[in-house]
Amino acid sequence: MQEERIVKPCAERARANMPDYAAARAAFTWAEARNSLDGLGQGRLNIAHEAIGRHVAAGHADQVALRWIAKSGARRDYTYGDLDRETSRFANVLRDSGLAVGDRVYALLGRTPELYIAALGTLKAGCVFCPLFSAFGPEPIHARMEIGGAAALITTKRLYTRKVAGLRDRLPDLRLVFLTDAEVEGTRAIGPLTDAASDRFETVPMAPEDSALLHFTSGTTGRPKGVVHVHEAVVAHHTTGRLALDLRPGDVFWCTADPGWVTGTSYGIIAPLTNRVTMIVDEAEFDVARWYGILEDERVNVWYTAPTAIRMLMKAGADPAAGRDFSALRFMASVGEPLNPEAVIWGNKVLGRPFHDNWWQTETGGIMIANYASMDVKPGSMGKPLPGIDAGVVDVTDNGVHELNEPMALGELALRSGWPSMMRGYLHEEARYRKCFRDGWYLTGDLAMRDAEGYFWFVGRADDLIKSAGHLIGPFEVESALMEHPAVAEVGVIGVPDETAGQLVKAYVALKPGHEPSEDLRRDLLGLARSRLGPAVAPKEIVFRKNLPKTRSGKIMRRLLKARELGLPEGDISTLESDEQ
Ligand code: AMP
Repeated sequence: MQEERIVKPCAERARANMPDYAAARAAFTWAEARNSLDGLGQGRLNIAHEAIGRHVAAGHADQVALRWIAKSGARRDYTYGDLDRETSRFANVLRDSGLAVGDRVYALLGRTPELYIAALGTLKAGCVFCPLFSAFGPEPIHARMEIGGAAALITTKRLYTRKVAGLRDRLPDLRLVFLTDAEVEGTRAIGPLTDAASDRFETVPMAPEDSALLHFTSGTTGRPKGVVHVHEAVVAHHTTGRLALDLRPGDVFWCTADPGWVTGTSYGIIAPLTNRVTMIVDEAEFDVARWYGILEDERVNVWYTAPTAIRMLMKAGADPAAGRDFSALRFMASVGEPLNPEAVIWGNKVLGRPFHDNWWQTETGGIMIANYASMDVKPGSMGKPLPGIDAGVVDVTDNGVHELNEPMALGELALRSGWPSMMRGYLHEEARYRKCFRDGWYLTGDLAMRDAEGYFWFVGRADDLIKSAGHLIGPFEVESALMEHPAVAEVGVIGVPDETAGQLVKAYVALKPGHEPSEDLRRDLLGLARSRLGPAVAPKEIVFRKNLPKTRSGKIMRRLLKARELGLPEGDISTLESDEQ
């Protein structure tokens, strides 16, 4: 932690959407925030209307809403009017295909325009949108579609034949599969259907508490959790976009996150459009020259990215950025994993602005703690809670939750329940959901500290979840895939520190009698994990052990594996049963 501070000049503070944090916090109410949106009358609303319809009605149909940059570098623009028509066509296809309000529509797509049209068309039709990360392997895809009872899926021929076709008999609820580029057995090509559909559709007015989005997040035990968000969440998406990302109508905004993860939906689709910006969508993966080129050529005003990408830019050195014109860039933010203080300072030096770290989770639906345009940045800190959000550092004991008010006390980061984008449940898992709340607090599972000025500092996770390149990975899912191998007796999966990705997934494997560790077997296991889980989730490293540390009840002690890996004290090992290394 550094006490270095990046002081914001007065003029810059004054220009920000929220020039005075303390005053904005004192005056803020969610009810008033709601008033900055339209609604659809009689207390009803729809995210898609706030994102598109509202702006078209107000005369902004010709403004570019989405500029898509294909892998080839070709650009395609969609105005708000185009998006309105295309999403109406998609909504008509869903309705004509027999999908009802509340049905879950999944997307397994790369960052192509079809994904954005599907997301907003689904919402328009009153269906629930569930994005899947296109780099997932068949197992994570199956688990997520089964839990959500997917009624329809939109994907490509390649992704379908490789990853989904073989799962169809295990997905009894899946009635419809639309392909963006072909038609194969058991699917329908979406192109001819949308071409034939009307480009007018009356957005379905939803109740604020009706489900809109289903995102999946990992747990330390058991299957992934289906996080339910409602249409009312748009109030938080919009407000946080304005206050934490400083978005203004007409801005060019680039969120580098993939909509397969929550950031790519809340801030890669909804918040930018409700704030009437032009959003940049790049189909390609990270590339130093390409990214600097986009920032410069598109004259990006606000950029929202992630620590792994920033560290990769830093690794490339200052040269690729030299001589480029980043004068349009007004605000840069980062999310998803701890942002090292050096990265904040590097941004200031090389790009002329600091990165503003902010914090949130799939469950919170939107940014909760942030460094704001008008606030001094303390590199390494996540910033302060949004207006409308009460955050605390707490100690949770059998007697209840106690807030720790002394500066820099270490405890669990907790939020006072009750904001529009808070999850409304883990699908089918009431007990797991209830466990997140106590004494009016939502317990985040993160450890943090708050300094005397009210800035929050991230310390680590209180559980075994792994953050690798910004992706939250549940060790259980990885362990389950490796357990499928006939030679494997036990697996323990942990995250180990990595300079670029933050953490890497590492698996400890004990073999069944009659099997010996070998390089071939290691490769076999790595291959199995990659094909089942996809490259983003599969372990990067596998090591063999005779036995893994377990509790008396047979649970593998990942905490101990990690302590040993890092050479840290082993802590309380009173429940340790077997431990032959
Ligand atoms: P996800 O639900 O996948 O968005 O992951 C949420 C988790 O990512 C949080 O609980 C944190 O552990 C981590 N995280 C998100 N933002 C930050 C941040 N700014 N600094 C440190 N960790 C973060």
